[in-house]
Amino acid sequence: MNADPRWMTPEVALMRDSVRKVFEREFVPNEARWRREHVADRAVWRRAGETGLLLASIPEEYGGAGGSFAHEAVVAHEQARALVNSFSINVHSGIVAHYLLAYGSEEQKRRWLPPMARGELVAAIAMSEPGAGTDLQAIRTSALRDGDDYVINGAKTFITNGHHADLVVVAVKTDPQQRARGVSLVVAETASLRGFRRGPLLEKVGMTGQDTCELFFDDVRVPAANLLGSEEGQGFRQLMQQLPRERLLIAIAAAATMQRAVDETLAYAAQRRIFGEPLLALQNTRFTLAECQTEAALARAFVDQCIERQLEGTLDVPTAAMAKWSITDRLCKVLDACLQLHGGYGYMTEYPIARMWADARVMRIFGGANEVMKELIARSMEQRA
Ligand SMILES: Cc1cc2nc3c(=O)[nH]c(=O)nc-3n(C[C@H](O)[C@H](O)[C@H](O)COP(=O)(O)OP(=O)(O)OC[C@H]3O[C@@H](n4cnc5c(N)ncnc54)[C@H](O)[C@@H]3O)c2cc1C
Repeated sequence: MNADPRWMTPEVALMRDSVRKVFEREFVPNEARWRREHVADRAVWRRAGETGLLLASIPEEYGGAGGSFAHEAVVAHEQARALVNSFSINVHSGIVAHYLLAYGSEEQKRRWLPPMARGELVAAIAMSEPGAGTDLQAIRTSALRDGDDYVINGAKTFITNGHHADLVVVAVKTDPQQRARGVSLVVAETASLRGFRRGPLLEKVGMTGQDTCELFFDDVRVPAANLLGSEEGQGFRQLMQQLPRERLLIAIAAAATMQRAVDETLAYAAQRRIFGEPLLALQNTRFTLAECQTEAALARAFVDQCIERQLEGTLDVPTAAMAKWSITDRLCKVLDACLQLHGGYGYMTEYPIARMWADARVMRIFGGANEVMKELIARSMEQRA
């Protein structure tokens, strides 16, 4: 059951072992404090850069580690397995770095990717607004051309890494009269950026150590050269192209969390005594754990298949959507069952199962709500009806 999948070559497995140790040694001991403070130390990013966690699948010529999606998958899996949720490598390396790689000019890639790999620049992506999340075509933040600059006005919300971010890929309307065709991606470098403001850290149900905040743009001028892509109006297409990768990374983290939940609960049930015997001896506990382990194995198998397809370049939108909705939905069910087996202790945040339960809930909402995933799958099915 624990045999390595085909994509886990000996070289990737070596990296996995080293990444696992890095998370356990460097980050796990700080996670509880970061959760209390609602933000990880800024130094975490430098340390992540020094220990090789950042930009795993970006070419070496741009400062990355030169790996493939398999290396990125290992980082996402190990971060989730370690229950270190207080800084989002996924957003920084798995998403923003790939926007820059795919759509950035040579100059943009050389300027931004190497410091991102070293953890000197922290990256965020700002799509969601108070009035538009799922319906991204309805965003209102505008970036209007004025000489050699864009002048950005608007507000973004729920932005992961928002407090630390030095580099924000902002989804804007360069043509506010249009819907999808009016959307562009513009990079804002936040250091000494006049008119740019961050809101306070948002108080969340879970992922409480992650710095999530609102970002405000009030006549913010960024150079027109910071547009991603050769012309305006490509932003919506760019976002849609990258989403399957982002959704697979969420599914990878969900599958890793599921297995960790089963392992935690098995260990707890083996040592907790009830009616004179281990909790694990009760048939309900055994059946529940058997069901949860089956769910974890199924999730792992589907995720492995999706990783293979991503590596081959054949992962399509509906398959990534299937992985995202089904594994995050099942994760929440598994976590609820595992928490129940912990009794009152499962409700105490000092127990990992409680933190996992709270953290997992948002996975059904971000990266595209699970209802949207089902809509995408249904749309692809209509074509064969
Ligand atoms: C912790 C956290 C971190 C986040 N990080 C980021 C980030 O870094 N950058 C960023 O840009 N955004 C981020 N987001 C925002 C996230 O992507 C949005 O919350 C999400 O896209 C949903 O948008 P919304 O909240 O506006 O909900 P809405 O769009 O208002 O949707 C509300 C609900 O409507 C239902 N729904 C939506 N569409 C459909 C449909 N087509 N059919 C049926 N039902 C539907 C779903 O149940 C959905 O949950 C984050 C959010 C959270 C909570």
